[in-house]
Amino acid sequence: MLRPFDKLRVVSKVEPQAQHERKSSVMPFALRRSKGERPMVIHTAKIVEKTRGHCDIIDITNKVKEEVERQKIRRGLATLFVSGSTASLTTIEYESGVLKDLQELLEKLIPSNRKYHHDDRWGDDNGFSHLRASLLGPSLQVPIDDGKLMLGTWQQIVLLDFDNRPRTREIVVQIMGESE
Ligand code: ZN
Repeated sequence: MLRPFDKLRVVSKVEPQAQHERKSSVMPFALRRSKGERPMVIHTAKIVEKTRGHCDIIDITNKVKEEVERQKIRRGLATLFVSGSTASLTTIEYESGVLKDLQELLEKLIPSNRKYHHDDRWGDDNGFSHLRASLLGPSLQVPIDDGKLMLGTWQQIVLLDFDNRPRTREIVVQIMGESE
């Protein structure tokens, strides 16, 4: 007997029935689908953004939304990841006041006008860019329900470029979930 929340269930070692199923399964320990369930799909796409560097903050919400809609994922998870060690992803209310506040906060925490050990070793003078990127992190996960990203009304997904020069950035968008 499946419990109600077991529509998608992980095959478990403790259930004799599950043990039997596991033997005939192509993917041991994979999420299994019950009859009538929608197929699970994984889709990977890339968003490309040209930035000005120097703590440029770019709203990428609509591009991520378009990707979710294009893939017709009803329920699941979008994982976003920016390639590179001087950029980050986060969410914020995309209005000029709070964007300026965030830029000022980062300048205070990790000033751009002092020397870092990285600058001595590497000579590209962007020690502050690497530190800011590590602090905020390169990835973000947003749940999807009813075909939509579960963001707040005033919550946008943003790319932050901390490098000391303009860059072209690639953001990986991996969407995993039930298709429509
Ligand atoms: Zn560097």
